[in-house]
Amino acid sequence: MPLNLSEELLAIIVCPDCHGDLVPVETDPATGAGELVCQSCGLAYPVRDDIPVLLVDEARRPD
Ligand SMILES: [Zn+2]
Repeated sequence: MPLNLSEELLAIIVCPDCHGDLVPVETDPATGAGELVCQSCGLAYPVRDDIPVLLVDEARRPD
């Protein structure tokens, strides 16, 4: 599992903005850093120290 996130966790969490499914995306293979990308609205939430930061204020807006 990328980003060291458990499948159990991924099954539970949803986008706090639109409640869409979140998919883990590795953004830096060297460090294992990544984001959780909403499949509905496209917001990308950071993952810090293997903890998803599900805050709209912290999310990266899609281009
Ligand atoms: Zn969303």
